Amino acid sequence: TAALADIDPSIKASVDREFDRQERQIELIASENIVSKAVMQAQGTVLTNKYAEGYSGRRYYGGCEYVDEVESLAIDRAKQLFNCEYVNVQPHSGAQANGAVMMALLQPGDTILGMSLDAGGHLTHGARPAQSGKWFNAVQYGVSEADCRIDYDAIEALAVEHKPKLIIAGGSAIPREIDFARFREIADKVDAYLMVDMAHIAGLIATGKHPSPMPYADVVTTTTHKTLRGPRGGMILSNNLELGKKINSAVFPGLQGGPLMHVIAAKAVAFGEALQPEFSDYIQNVLDNARTLAEVMVERGCDIVTGGTDTHLMLVDLRPKGLKGNAVEESLERAGITCNKNGIPFDPEKPMVTSGIRLGTPAGTSRGFGVDEFRRIGHLISDVLDGLAENPEDNSKVEQQVRDEIENLCKRFPLYR
Ligand code: PLP
Repeated sequence: TAALADIDPSIKASVDREFDRQERQIELIASENIVSKAVMQAQGTVLTNKYAEGYSGRRYYGGCEYVDEVESLAIDRAKQLFNCEYVNVQPHSGAQANGAVMMALLQPGDTILGMSLDAGGHLTHGARPAQSGKWFNAVQYGVSEADCRIDYDAIEALAVEHKPKLIIAGGSAIPREIDFARFREIADKVDAYLMVDMAHIAGLIATGKHPSPMPYADVVTTTTHKTLRGPRGGMILSNNLELGKKINSAVFPGLQGGPLMHVIAAKAVAFGEALQPEFSDYIQNVLDNARTLAEVMVERGCDIVTGGTDTHLMLVDLRPKGLKGNAVEESLERAGITCNKNGIPFDPEKPMVTSGIRLGTPAGTSRGFGVDEFRRIGHLISDVLDGLAENPEDNSKVEQQVRDEIENLCKRFPLYR
């Protein structure tokens, strides 16, 4: 980074400040992680210079022999990791991956059935302000009012009523295991395609700690930067090679131009890491840490949506403490803990306020926190919540106390040893 410091000291200074921020706070945003130095290095290579429209062996540019090697390795490793026949590693992001699948399988105006944003789904699953909601007839399912879990019978009823061409399973705030076999049954009943968006749980699936969607879904999409701990990006997988051809055409030339070869190199590195036994231990620790954190939050008087978690994330219902998600997010941030406000199912508050926060353990676990640290983090979060409940106007004393302890904890667990 010497060159960066000389040539662009402003950007270098911002990067340094961001490094310092990441180093000195605890990251609990469930969709974030801390990549290895190797993953980061791969993204800072000369591969960023290369145009490679097309696919390995069939490019529209010369000089692609080495990036072909990289893309082929990324694909082979992903196939091994998820035990499937077809992979496209070119989507620039999770949203692009989902858009490409829709382009491959649907016509504008077709009906899709996905989980609503407020129940834990993603914008790209048919939310009104997104392309998926604007260009398709998007029907949305939620969770059961009784236990806030996915209500498969209700999804089946909606599918029978609306006859979607595509059903989407998966989301951004689902704390419980998803029953992909049941989704397949529903899709078969109405002759729909089933797409599983495993973005959040890809790392759990790669290590066998969440059932795989591969035997059930027509197509699976993911991001590579969440529990999978790779670079920011997307990927599409399937066992149907005919569908794979359509999806390749939808990614390029349908939706994207040149692939980001430096990012694909980093994806390959991350998949290589995820194939090692240490990654399986890492994911087990992510799950143990999430369960521990959820237990402490309940002990200290919050509710957890669905009563707990099977995954890396939980939704904390702040209503027992009379608190709102936006105020809690801000107070926690001042105390050195980063998370996001999040609507809980049937939330009476507006999306910019909310009654909840979403907490996840992937990033903290990557820097080495175990259950002891996460138990302590649960207590520190609860101290901030109790302080805020007592002094809604000024929680600065508790925030400072917690901040001091967090900084000491972070010093013991540097991001990069
Ligand atoms: N799908 C799910 C389930 C997600 O949670 C996300 C991101 O939060 C995406 C897709 C979109 O990924 P990206 O932000 O890379 O476009």
